[in-house]
Amino acid sequence: MFESWDHPNRPCCGICGGLIVPGASRFPGNFPGWTEDEQFKRVSVDDFREKLIKEQFHWQSGYRAVVKLGRQPPFISGASYRYSDADIDETGSLPVPKEMESVVLNRNKTWPEDEFIRIEKPHIDSYDTSEANVGWVFHEVCWIMLEQVDDDYQVMNNNLDLFMIAVHDEMTEKREEHTKLIIRAGRNTMWLQRRFKEATVNPFHIPMLGNVTNAALNREVREPKLLMPDIRSAAGFRISGGAFYKLQVETQQMIANHIDDEKDFRAFLLATRWRFPSVYWRKRIPECFYEIHKGIGDQRVDWQWLGLEVSRIVEKQYAEIHNRARIYAHIKRLFVILSQGVR
Ligand SMILES: [Zn+2]
Repeated sequence: MFESWDHPNRPCCGICGGLIVPGASRFPGNFPGWTEDEQFKRVSVDDFREKLIKEQFHWQSGYRAVVKLGRQPPFISGASYRYSDADIDETGSLPVPKEMESVVLNRNKTWPEDEFIRIEKPHIDSYDTSEANVGWVFHEVCWIMLEQVDDDYQVMNNNLDLFMIAVHDEMTEKREEHTKLIIRAGRNTMWLQRRFKEATVNPFHIPMLGNVTNAALNREVREPKLLMPDIRSAAGFRISGGAFYKLQVETQQMIANHIDDEKDFRAFLLATRWRFPSVYWRKRIPECFYEIHKGIGDQRVDWQWLGLEVSRIVEKQYAEIHNRARIYAHIKRLFVILSQGVR
């Protein structure tokens, strides 16, 4: 069964709700220079993230936290990897590195001790800002996703105390939703299982999005050949684009947006020969496909070609993409609560 927000005494990610799981099985041997007698290993943030994204480490085991020590202002911790059950006590508290830029990996024992702090989950039913050292933990991979929403991330960074409250509110809400979901699913356990399984796949390991971005960048941008109605082809045939062709591009887009099925959408565009501008495709490609939006930026590509390729990917219903969309929706919700507090 999917373990998540409904486990108050286990470390759960404040974004996606999933557990920070012990990931020893996908950990040893990944740093060849790290011998058994060395208790800990320092790695760079980039190295660490690459291993999590590429599935060399278990994505649900890498974590960092937003921490509040007593009455001091909150801060973002460093990152670490949950190796086994040995690092946790019965309250579900995890040790986190104090320095934001540091990544310290341990095997069984938390070491060097003075670089770590042990934090408790803030009490879910009463947001307690007293003397305790509290913090919300997050999967490092979910945190990377949070960082992608540039503007909101900056606002969050400047308002970490409000962010902690937002996570708290969301956590309460999510626990209720989670319970409702299970009740609503009733006997449909197959559906529930599929949904929960989806939540365990790595939302950042979607190489095809990077591949299609590279392909678009390497592809020649052709000027679209507009076939105007009632023109003559090179061979002298008269071609009629028909009344459909004369519609304004805005109207064309409205019609196209009504087609939910990806395959029908592509077939329809092929049949009508409509060509939409880049602004349409940028909007149609999900915001959380960072590889595409950030990878292309202002560079000139054939957006129509790219948009249709993305449509093929979306049609396949990959679990990784579903999970990314789900986590992204959670991030957006957090930022909405945060923005209400900031105003
Ligand atoms: Zn997460």
